[in-house]
Amino acid sequence: MGSRVKILLATRNPGKVREIGAILGDLDINVVSLADFPDVPEVVEDGTTFFENAYKKAKEVSEATGMMVLSDDSGLEVDALGGRPGVYSARYSGKEGDDAANNAKLLKELEGVPEEKRTARFKCVMVLYHPSGKWISAEGTCEGRIALKPAGSGGFGYDPIFYMEQYGKTMAELPPEEKNRISHRAEALKALKRRLREFLASL
Ligand code: IMP
Repeated sequence: MGSRVKILLATRNPGKVREIGAILGDLDINVVSLADFPDVPEVVEDGTTFFENAYKKAKEVSEATGMMVLSDDSGLEVDALGGRPGVYSARYSGKEGDDAANNAKLLKELEGVPEEKRTARFKCVMVLYHPSGKWISAEGTCEGRIALKPAGSGGFGYDPIFYMEQYGKTMAELPPEEKNRISHRAEALKALKRRLREFLASL
């Protein structure tokens, strides 16, 4: 696909850049991030679905920079709450990014809900947007259930209360390399990667 392909990641989060860079590492792609573009304005994530937010972010950043942009949006869906917090995951407790308050609120809402009804999943949608207006998207999920209490100190967000039966551990108790291998973000990116060659050839 030639060495000139450059993808701008619509994030300033160095952890995400590392994770995505590692998964795309075997392709002949130059991955850069918004850390190199301090003047690009923040995108307001006001969509009602992960796709709407990811698409809006990729399109706006692409239009601001003229580059091909990869964006993601993710969150937690809890079945007993009809899919909440969903796109509101980061600000569930009312304060953006307060992980401890978000977890406490979720545990409180699920008080009395038995284990088998505490099923949940992390979801991630990625959009790759080319300045020509062509785009592709892919989705990844990671299934689990909401624990009765927090455990573990790794990861971020809802990881301490996201229990995975197959490991007998919460996401926050997994080694980071293991989380990065099985996460909703990794699954979405692997799905996108499978279609990347065809997409680039169509441009
Ligand atoms: P964003 O897609 O990075 O904006 O993530 C939105 C929110 O979803 C985060 O602030 C977390 O609350 C939650 N979230 C997304 N991915 C994860 C994860 O891997 N572990 C725990 N929480 C997550």
